Amino acid sequence: MAFETIIGNEIVKKLLNSTIQKNNILHSYLFVGPDGIGKSIFAKEFAQMILCENEITKPCHQCKSCLEMESNNHPDFLQINSDDGKSIKIEQVRFLQEKIAEKPVSSNRKVYVIYDSDLMTREAANSLLKTLEEPPAYATLILITSNESKLLTTIKSRCIKVNFQVIEQEQILQYLRKNNLDAGVTQNMLEMCEGSIGKALKLQERKDDYAEIEELIHKISNTDITEIWNHAEVLYKAKENVMELLDYMNLLFYKQLCQKQQTAIVKAIYSVEEAKKRILANANYDMSIDHLLLEIWEELA
Ligand SMILES: [Zn+2]
Repeated sequence: MAFETIIGNEIVKKLLNSTIQKNNILHSYLFVGPDGIGKSIFAKEFAQMILCENEITKPCHQCKSCLEMESNNHPDFLQINSDDGKSIKIEQVRFLQEKIAEKPVSSNRKVYVIYDSDLMTREAANSLLKTLEEPPAYATLILITSNESKLLTTIKSRCIKVNFQVIEQEQILQYLRKNNLDAGVTQNMLEMCEGSIGKALKLQERKDDYAEIEELIHKISNTDITEIWNHAEVLYKAKENVMELLDYMNLLFYKQLCQKQQTAIVKAIYSVEEAKKRILANANYDMSIDHLLLEIWEELA
């Protein structure tokens, strides 16, 4: 059984497994769903299954093709990424088209994955259309996106859509436990992950920062403002990546609001959102944090 090491998305696993078992591999797939839920891992494993030479167990992890895949060295597997994180250019699609025209070398099929396919420029997407309309018999393309609405309808209509779902909090927790990463990760922190393992791993690295935010919020209603400023080092030193911490603050406030509907909490949430805007607009960072803490303190103390 394939996809054993991947958590969540059981329906997708069934679908892709049966595609392989029935040897009903199509020419173009579109993997759709939020970031960090395993679309890329699924795409690579699916590619390995398509290319595997074993007749019964795919992927077998033993044939030449599987070994080439696992050492990131398969001549019939190509991945296209945005070079600059902003766009996928027509030159990259032309390169793919040159390569796809050549017969497979190692396996009897070829697989191409385009990550963040919504970043294709219009020219790149229009160029890819030709390949999607008349793909070589041996080729499969997997387009991945977390922004389906940005893809051309003509591209979407030529792909089989595979929908990925966010992962349950309990499954994320199990994953962290299995990898000994769960210590200090609270229920509130799990809620921040929004069903994404990728986010959970990032959050785990900063769990001490999140814990400090939690402590700060607990303190704010019964401590002097100078004390609050002195104990908010976590915010002052997080200039480059403060947004997640501010989002976390608001998650905590939202949870308080669910328990007691107070206008003061609504105002605190609003203050955090305003602070985010000021910081994004390049206002003085330390002053923005000073101001934010003072506002929240005035509301809640
Ligand atoms: Zn194999």
